[in-house]
Amino acid sequence: MSLTSDYSMLLKIADEFGTPVYVYDADKIVSQYKRLKHAFEPLKVKIKYACKALNNSNILKLLKNEGSGLDAVSINEVRLGIKAGFAPSEIIFTPNCVGFDEIKMAVELGVQINIDNISILEQFGNEYGNKVPCCIRLNPHILAGGNKKISTGHIDSKFGISIYQLRHVLRVIETYKMNINGLHMHTGSDILDAGVFIQGAELLFDAAKDFPDLTFIDFGSGFKVAYKENDITTDIEELGKAISQRFIEFSKEYGRDLELWFEPGKFLVSESGLFLVKTNVIKQTTATVFVGVDSGMNHLIRPMLYDSYHDIINISNPEGKQRIYTVVGYICETDTFGWDRKLSEVHDGDILCFKNAGAYGITMSSNYNARVRPAEVLFYKGKAHLIRKRETLDDLTRNEVLIEM
Ligand SMILES: *Cc1c(COP(=O)(O)O)cnc(C)c1O
Repeated sequence: MSLTSDYSMLLKIADEFGTPVYVYDADKIVSQYKRLKHAFEPLKVKIKYACKALNNSNILKLLKNEGSGLDAVSINEVRLGIKAGFAPSEIIFTPNCVGFDEIKMAVELGVQINIDNISILEQFGNEYGNKVPCCIRLNPHILAGGNKKISTGHIDSKFGISIYQLRHVLRVIETYKMNINGLHMHTGSDILDAGVFIQGAELLFDAAKDFPDLTFIDFGSGFKVAYKENDITTDIEELGKAISQRFIEFSKEYGRDLELWFEPGKFLVSESGLFLVKTNVIKQTTATVFVGVDSGMNHLIRPMLYDSYHDIINISNPEGKQRIYTVVGYICETDTFGWDRKLSEVHDGDILCFKNAGAYGITMSSNYNARVRPAEVLFYKGKAHLIRKRETLDDLTRNEVLIEM
């Protein structure tokens, strides 16, 4: 039985480690990784795990052991990756709007640099000439659907260098004799249709003709996972078949075998994660029955920030009769996890389980309301392991400096 449906194991974990607690199923992460690899066969696709989704060092190690590389968006993510054992050459650094200092630090660490604006491209050329290769992040302005806060492909997006500025890019590269070894796009939108995705890919293939030194093309991410029953998701197998076929053709046109890279975050870790909370109060108001739990948007902000939907299950009473509840947190601000949800009858003390909590859960958590961040547990080889302790009051004041008064 998978951990997701093993309610008695989850209750045991909640009891042993306390709530709120994030729980991740290592098997699910590994199987998602393998599924993605397999979908692109016979191509040996390179997967660079986008660790902003979930960056606990144990998760990084787990994926490294499977052969994954890493996608890092800050210098500290690069450092976490190296600490977890990734070879610097397996890490791609894809920051947005960072200073040139941070780029230089990443060069010194030996990671693959991905540049997303012309100003930095010029500074990079001026500093390194052709001595350090770099990748260029292009914005093809396609696939602009999905949530505006997440989508990065639209015309007003701050991400990437517009495909319409290619002339300018080439002028900079020529002037500094730069070595451009990769082209990248990450639209941030959900890929729902292989055909639409390939349209975007064609723009990159077209641009590639102007870059003779390429060794890889990086298509970012955008693989959609199911949050609700019957959600439309990316058909990875169909997408893999279509893209790898077209990529092999393109490599022939280009004249040399190129590597195909992807940077999934959500796809690898979202479904592996469960967030367990305890019911503090059941509060009947004039029109609603609220379930108030021992957590809030400080621990899981996605529902409030992105209107994301997370399935909620009362694992203490899974067979109970269904009633309608609105599940809310304890933060002094509106923090609703789910409106009008059908849950098996909830009692004080019941443990609720939020699904799809592996990606952008703990990494987006905060100490708002002087609440400590939850513990993290990894279910690995049939056993639950604590992989991050719950914070304490001391953690909240650790960096304060008290002055005389
Ligand atoms: C966030 C991010 C990803 C991962 O996106 P998911 O939707 O979690 O798969 C990949 N690449 C870059 C550059 C990112 O910023």
